[in-house]
Amino acid sequence: MRYSVTDPKRTAANKQGIGMTSQRTRERLVDTLKSLGVADARVLEVMRSTPRHLFLDEALAHRAYEDKSLPIGHNQTLSRPYTVARMSELLLESCAAKKVLEIGTGSGYQTCILAQLVPKLFSMERIEPLLNRAKQRLALMDIHNVVYQHGDGYEGWPAREPFDGIMVTAAPSQVPKALQWQLAEGGCMIIPVGGNEQYLLKITRSGNHFSKQKVEAANFVPLINGLI
Ligand code: SAH
Repeated sequence: MRYSVTDPKRTAANKQGIGMTSQRTRERLVDTLKSLGVADARVLEVMRSTPRHLFLDEALAHRAYEDKSLPIGHNQTLSRPYTVARMSELLLESCAAKKVLEIGTGSGYQTCILAQLVPKLFSMERIEPLLNRAKQRLALMDIHNVVYQHGDGYEGWPAREPFDGIMVTAAPSQVPKALQWQLAEGGCMIIPVGGNEQYLLKITRSGNHFSKQKVEAANFVPLINGLI
């Protein structure tokens, strides 16, 4: 881990004590993640120190440390903590994830977790009001290694390719070809694929070959074309 959200120098939120209010419930969440098989110490530490309640509307904040996906408006959801942790762990163990593209900024929670685990993050979202709110939250938390784009993840981010790692947090029915080709040599993509039945796929690039491995069952909102 490069730095921690709990570093008192770093976050306005923590300076005001906001981030510390739910430390005990976060510890319990980390125990749950461990019992579900999440093992990467860097990921567990970042999950422990990141205040998930700041990524939800106040009315839902009390549920922030349940291992549940929760609504963030616009028919979208903040992913379940297990999913966020597992995808982060898969990305870190599958490639040297120095420059990473995330598709589906949503609330910014997964962005916040990833930004603490990789040096440089590019994050794309198709719904502009969600993107703007996420940007504000991450700025409040003093996270500055993320570049944002209001854009369609099906196209990826051609101007910034190649990426060592790509993480997609909404499910297409098939892997978008454009995204695949934006992987660097040896790079990896973690992506849910499918409709009613989804699974998490790990894709690794070697030259013009993309090896695909099914990891586990998944349950994401769909990846949708077009901007809002
Ligand atoms: N990772 C987010 C939530 C994921 S929900 C979080 O932690 O809160 C999936 C997100 O992907 C939604 O915000 C949705 O608007 C976005 N999305 C769906 N299709 C997209 C596309 N084609 N390009 C970019 N973002 C997309």
